[in-house]
Amino acid sequence: MSKQRDLIFEIIHESKLHLSAEDIFKEATKKMPNISLGTVYRNLNDLTEEGQIARFHTGLGKDYYDYNIDPHGHLICKSCGGIKDYDVKELYNHLKGNIKKLISFEIEIKYICEKCQKNLEKEGDN
Ligand SMILES: [Zn+2]
Ligand SMILES: [Zn+2]
Repeated sequence: MSKQRDLIFEIIHESKLHLSAEDIFKEATKKMPNISLGTVYRNLNDLTEEGQIARFHTGLGKDYYDYNIDPHGHLICKSCGGIKDYDVKELYNHLKGNIKKLISFEIEIKYICEKCQKNLEKEGDN
């Protein structure tokens, strides 16, 4: 059990990306071909509840898992679905100062990333 958990934790921390449960499952089967998607979900839930990883919802219709457990926002490219962290510490501290019981803090900013913007410009030239 704990070997599977360690593997899942490792995948999330080493990728430094935002991964969906399916992404993590795909990676995990490379090292543990017998691991099931249910096991991956169960361990993701446990790790999230213990605060070892963070889970966030997106308008992309999937939950993602994050090695970065500090409060931060997410920039999400509407074109390629790429997700980047965005520093919102000042806002978070401001809220913490004004709200006694902050329950959740999720900030999702939709944008077009630089790469996609360049591609769009190229298409425009043709
Ligand atoms: Zn993009
Ligand atoms: Zn993040």
